[in-house]
Amino acid sequence: MMKIIKLIVSLIAFTLAACQAANVTVIESPIPSMTSTATPSSTPTFTPSPQPTFTPSITITPSVTPTETPRPNIAPTLPYTDVHFILHGDRDKPYVALTFDLCQKPELPAWFDNGIVDVLNEYEVPATFFMGGDWMRTHVDETLLLASNPNFELGNHSWSHPDLPGLSAEVISSEIVNTQNLLYKLTGRQSTLFRLPAGKYDDLTLGLIAWHGLKTIQWDVETGDPDPTIDAERMNWAVRERVQNGSIIVMHANGRGWHTAEALPQMIKYLREQGYTLVTVSQLLGLEPLPQH
Ligand SMILES: [Zn+2]
Repeated sequence: MMKIIKLIVSLIAFTLAACQAANVTVIESPIPSMTSTATPSSTPTFTPSPQPTFTPSITITPSVTPTETPRPNIAPTLPYTDVHFILHGDRDKPYVALTFDLCQKPELPAWFDNGIVDVLNEYEVPATFFMGGDWMRTHVDETLLLASNPNFELGNHSWSHPDLPGLSAEVISSEIVNTQNLLYKLTGRQSTLFRLPAGKYDDLTLGLIAWHGLKTIQWDVETGDPDPTIDAERMNWAVRERVQNGSIIVMHANGRGWHTAEALPQMIKYLREQGYTLVTVSQLLGLEPLPQH
């Protein structure tokens, strides 16, 4: 009997010890697993945190200097207009516009005749320059020089000076719009006047020019200045023969108006002696106020 009691007591003691041992392992087991998972996770979370605290101090410095905002590459769209095909202004008013084309085909580089600008400045003559897009691309400084002169108006003369009749609507539009965009990008100006390359047109061309919000500006007095054989005297003879109220005179400032700068002083003096006031095309057409003097 005593043996049985001892056996029971020893069994109870064994199971208690076993339970205690089991309890310890159950309790202890989470502790190493917690520490083992905590240590690796803590290291990556600490290392990146100092970096963002430094970067804001760097991003603050550029916010102090953004004084110049770059002008967009795309000019704002002009509202479309009716077709305007203009050869001259009002025949009853003594105004005349000198116009200078800056034509350039990409495969045929042109230049800039600064002598023309010198004469216009010397005689304080307003003038309209029709800017080729490809010409502006290769003559950025000259474009900015013309844009900086308050007497000068800037028009659009297509991008690559192609014969526009026969081209697709898409190509004609790109010739107009790309030139508008570069003029705006460089000068902040938008032209409302378009001069046809070589004066050539068809209905689609005139319609698209109007669709893009521009007026087509032709001329009624041709000086012939792209012809090297036409000298300054003959240019002036042509002007004397043809000029009248509202005339638009076409010349070239791309270095292929061979005697243009030479002819200009006599031309300006003659026109003023005849009582004409020299104006830009927009002034001639009443789109902008006339000069004060
Ligand atoms: Zn031209």
